[in-house]
Amino acid sequence: MDSSAELAVKPVNPLILQAATVLAGLAVCVIYLGILLTGSARDPILLHSLTVLLIALATYSMVALPMAASLPVALLAGVCALWGWASRQSLLLGVDAAAGVALVGLAAFQQRRRLRALMRLRQKLGDLDEECYMKDQALRLNEQTRESLAKKLDRYQQLQAVAEHLSRCLNLEEICQLAVDRAFELIGKSDACLLFLVDKERQELALFASRKGEGVAAIRTKQGDQFDRYVLRTHRPLMVNDVRRDFRFSGPGTADRPIGSVIACPLLVAQSAEGVLRLDSRQPGVYTQDDLRFLDILLDLVDTAMTNARLFAQTQQLAITDGLTGLYRRQPFFDQLAREIARANRTREPLAVLMLDIDDFKQYNDTFGHTAGDVVLKTIADIIRDVVPPDGMCARYGGEEFSVLLPKAPRARAGEIAERVREMVAARVRAAGEGSGRPVTASLGVAVFPEDAKSELELIRQADQRLYQAKRSGKNCVESS
Ligand code: GH3
Ligand code: MG
Ligand code: MG
Repeated sequence: MDSSAELAVKPVNPLILQAATVLAGLAVCVIYLGILLTGSARDPILLHSLTVLLIALATYSMVALPMAASLPVALLAGVCALWGWASRQSLLLGVDAAAGVALVGLAAFQQRRRLRALMRLRQKLGDLDEECYMKDQALRLNEQTRESLAKKLDRYQQLQAVAEHLSRCLNLEEICQLAVDRAFELIGKSDACLLFLVDKERQELALFASRKGEGVAAIRTKQGDQFDRYVLRTHRPLMVNDVRRDFRFSGPGTADRPIGSVIACPLLVAQSAEGVLRLDSRQPGVYTQDDLRFLDILLDLVDTAMTNARLFAQTQQLAITDGLTGLYRRQPFFDQLAREIARANRTREPLAVLMLDIDDFKQYNDTFGHTAGDVVLKTIADIIRDVVPPDGMCARYGGEEFSVLLPKAPRARAGEIAERVREMVAARVRAAGEGSGRPVTASLGVAVFPEDAKSELELIRQADQRLYQAKRSGKNCVESS
């Protein structure tokens, strides 16, 4: 065992020391008073010794012990010394009395100083407590901010993923379904998510994509309800916390489904509302402003994706169709011809090609101008489109030359169609305006697969040769064999 541990003195409890000092003071005091009251020991030396003992006890408690003990012991010493001096009138006891009074004053002064220090400490403690509380609050606020920032970051990351996904989508239906699915999954809490688009012909909403939770009744409001129409009318996002208490709306929802709360945003394309995306729940108060903001941003992304998809479709259309007449260009015509020849080879069905060239068109342009010539080209394109059956394909082959593909058409049928086109051109197209001059005419050549040719190029060449044969025969006619 450690010897220093053995020797270590256990510190005495300061309360015991205080009590012992006060008790000792009291005991000395009782002896002192006993001497005074009984009148024994007339020699002041004993009283002086007792006073010195009391002063020593008071000084000890003042220096070594906390304030509680010093003042009462000093008071005892002071009172005893004064009384002793009063009753014995000795100089020695007078000095004791003066020392006792000075001690009381010192003890009182010390006590006052200690009290002040204590108060300052208490004040500091209170300040620290308050600071601690404020720091705690700030910490809690920070924690909340951190959580909400983490949530926001999470949502923006989700939005980024949706944006990436949407940017790869070029199909309108796919974009709409993706928007509905993501809104339903990421916002959650909903019974249904519905996307309505404006049906421009009927001027009303039509359900385009939807998603509903398990056990939710089938969605029957295919034209939208009061909430969707409100968003469409105002062009603004809508949040209804409790449908029954919102004065803007008449009832708790559609007849087939109870609705407690709704959020909805308009799909704005170039400032015009083209649709509405909306989430609803049977519970009131489930959505937050953050949810609404999220939905709004999601719709901005959908709007961009839809515009891209439309532009892509338009570009694709422009790449395969001729801008002036709206008919297919030469390349898609060749592609389709190759496919049809392959099919005709398989099915052993005939396939006809018509080539049309406007007669004396250069002269027409020279006389009436190119703008009038363009009108003629458009009119002839319309005639061809009208006459050719739906399974046929019409193209602008070159400047003022048109070609037609007629699947399953034997020579006689192709000849009839060509003749019908020629007749209608001659009957309907008048130089620079209806009825004002000589008719505009066209010549046509017909070639049939597999009788006239074995490949697509040969078939086109054959139809072209027949066309020039028609030109040589005096124009405004059809050459089919
Ligand atoms: P033919 O009866 O022998 O066919 O005589 P043509 O004058 O029609 O001769 P050709 O077929 O060679 O005519 C070509 C003319 O077509 C030349 C050009 O002025 C006109 N043309 C070609 N493309 C266009 C076009 O896009 N717009 C207009 N207005 N004219 C065009
Ligand atoms: Mg020509
Ligand atoms: Mg011509």
